[in-house]
Amino acid sequence: MTPRKKAWASEIKAILDTYFPNPEIPLLHTSPYTLLIAVLLSAQATDKKVNQTTPTLFALADTPEKMVKIPVSKLEEILRPVGLFRTKAKAILGLSQRLLDDFSGEVPEDLALLETLPGVGHKTASVVMAQAFQVPTFPVDTHIKRCANRWELSSGKTPEQVEHDLKKLFPVSSWLKVHLQIIYFARAYCPALRHNRAACPICSKL
Ligand code: SF4
Repeated sequence: MTPRKKAWASEIKAILDTYFPNPEIPLLHTSPYTLLIAVLLSAQATDKKVNQTTPTLFALADTPEKMVKIPVSKLEEILRPVGLFRTKAKAILGLSQRLLDDFSGEVPEDLALLETLPGVGHKTASVVMAQAFQVPTFPVDTHIKRCANRWELSSGKTPEQVEHDLKKLFPVSSWLKVHLQIIYFARAYCPALRHNRAACPICSKL
């Protein structure tokens, strides 16, 4: 990591601080378990759609004990609006049973253990570690990868490579905030298609 790149990352961070000074955790939740479920549901679905769906789900079941008692057909019906509802229902029931069997019904505060749960990959586990337990991680989704590549912070082709690069560029204490700020910035100003470099507060400085 060159000093120039670190200085550029710090400049980006300052810009993000002016646009999104207090980025909120976007998915509604009341516990590590409900956050885990919400993040799992957000795969290939908008946060808005997930937030419209989870109140109904969590009113019925906000713990693994209650969740495993919901018939799969009922769960699929509730989850239908978020898409991939059969796969997600199966994963939710599987991971809830696993939490009961192996973790006394608690979400483990451990990245590697989280990654062993059904339907939980590295990104989902990282989000839960950061947003439920305030453990510094840098979950990289498609928005963050796109911005990191375009801002020339990382030429990584995979989320893992980009995560590795970004972790070196931003202070550990800022990871949770910066990852949310980049997502909010990307959604508002940095679409996958069509963008105006000259008018952009970040790329115009490149
Ligand atoms: S110009 Fe703006 S919208 Fe385009 S890549 Fe850069 S940050 Fe994203």
